[in-house]
Amino acid sequence: MKEEGILTVVSGFSGAGKGTLMKKLLEKYGNTYALSVSATTRAPREGEVHGREYFFRTTEEFEKMIAQDELIEYAKYVNHYYGTPKDYVMNQLAEGKDVLLEIEIQGALKVRERFPDTVLLFVTPPSAQELKRRLTGRGTETEEVIQARLARAAEEAEYMDRYDYLVVNDDLESCVEELHGIIRAEHARAARNREFIHQIKKEVEEFQK
Ligand code: 5GP
Repeated sequence: MKEEGILTVVSGFSGAGKGTLMKKLLEKYGNTYALSVSATTRAPREGEVHGREYFFRTTEEFEKMIAQDELIEYAKYVNHYYGTPKDYVMNQLAEGKDVLLEIEIQGALKVRERFPDTVLLFVTPPSAQELKRRLTGRGTETEEVIQARLARAAEEAEYMDRYDYLVVNDDLESCVEELHGIIRAEHARAARNREFIHQIKKEVEEFQK
């Protein structure tokens, strides 16, 4: 039987560099991971492609997905809906892939409620100043949106200690290795290997006979 993959939620302040981190992780260890593509009602940023960064939906379409129970979770973030499509995630986990969800905190907590084995990982820049610098430097958002996102960061900081792991993103390469290492270690947890333990226990007991 194929071992089920591990579901990992990666959250972090807007501007923490989660997107780049996920991209690098997939480039390096693409066979192991599957990155879930969310649905959203926000407009595409320049360079974003429907089906790659997000499935861009109208509010009406999004609400239909909610009504038809097609999402594992969804949340409102700075005036827009964001949600995780269920089928893709469930199929990839069954295939043995480690599935990554890059989602915000409300969604993360909902996923954990629904799937208690989920690993919650929070990515943060080294300092608040650096966060502001990155968010402004990206040049993709208006001043108003930047302010709203910084305010949201303050709210999100309240929940950081609900996460299992904290990763400081000051160097991309080492951050990728740290993330990969954490997920590898999760595979080795005794609690995730009950079947193996049961089997080998039975086998060694035979030696006593
Ligand atoms: P952005 O607009 O910068 O792409 O994303 C804004 C926030 O929404 C980020 O914190 C991102 O992680 C989060 N997000 C993206 N997709 C989902 C999703 O499917 N569900 C939830 N709850 N949050 C999401």
